[in-house]
Amino acid sequence: MSYAFFIDTDRCTGCRACQVACKQWHDLPAEDTQNMGTFQNPPDLSFTTYKLVRMKEDVIDGRLQWLFLPEQCRHCIEPPCLDTADDEQAIYQDEKTGAVIFTANTKNLDADEIIESCPYNIPRQAADGTLAKCDMCHDRVTNGLPPACVQTCPTGAMNFGEREEMLSLARQRLDRVAQKHPQAQLVDADDVNVIYLVTAAPAEYHENLMAAAGAHDVTRQMALRKMMRPFRRALQQLA
Ligand code: SF4
Ligand code: SF4
Ligand code: SF4
Repeated sequence: MSYAFFIDTDRCTGCRACQVACKQWHDLPAEDTQNMGTFQNPPDLSFTTYKLVRMKEDVIDGRLQWLFLPEQCRHCIEPPCLDTADDEQAIYQDEKTGAVIFTANTKNLDADEIIESCPYNIPRQAADGTLAKCDMCHDRVTNGLPPACVQTCPTGAMNFGEREEMLSLARQRLDRVAQKHPQAQLVDADDVNVIYLVTAAPAEYHENLMAAAGAHDVTRQMALRKMMRPFRRALQQLA
């Protein structure tokens, strides 16, 4: 069994309570920002911002509309970051929850390689090389609590539970939302444990919302890395 999020962007009002709750639970500092002429703040994910509500105004079907994207790590089912790292002291997947966890040992990895391997451009690096991202609020979840972002969401946009339950909820909501928004879809639902329902084409929200076509190249590189892993380990033992 693994857990999953279902994030229903049709219900998101862009209030950013989830973003603040994530900071609060992880005791992360605020960012120094400046007015960029947009409501989005801060401008991007960072080593100290694991959750970011991306905001975009777009003209869809002749009407000005807000597109809100509460972004975080997707906790991929077969995580490219984990395969690239090949070091379970630095990046591991918790068997019980499916959470993909980065530890302080990420400092010893090739950060550029890990960041490039992520099809959603999620990991961020500190000055000392350590990498960080959303940890699925692993401490809360393993103690029977929902993630902080889910608990705080006032609209029902953020949902969390067993993967099959979340998939079922996502499909039910898609059926209903598609009646009003023909472009509505679930994003990469077979590959990730953070399932977004969007009402417009994913690229309208953000370039990295959906795994890019180039992710197939990453997958091929990962397959090669997996094949070579026993040989690399044998060489390391001989060295
Ligand atoms: Fe790793 Fe990126 Fe997938 Fe998160 S979204 S598990 S950082 S590959
Ligand atoms: Fe932040 Fe926890 Fe939500 Fe991840 S699950 S975005 S760490 S509050
Ligand atoms: Fe959207 Fe809920 Fe986050 Fe508010 S708390 S920005 S409604 S996902």
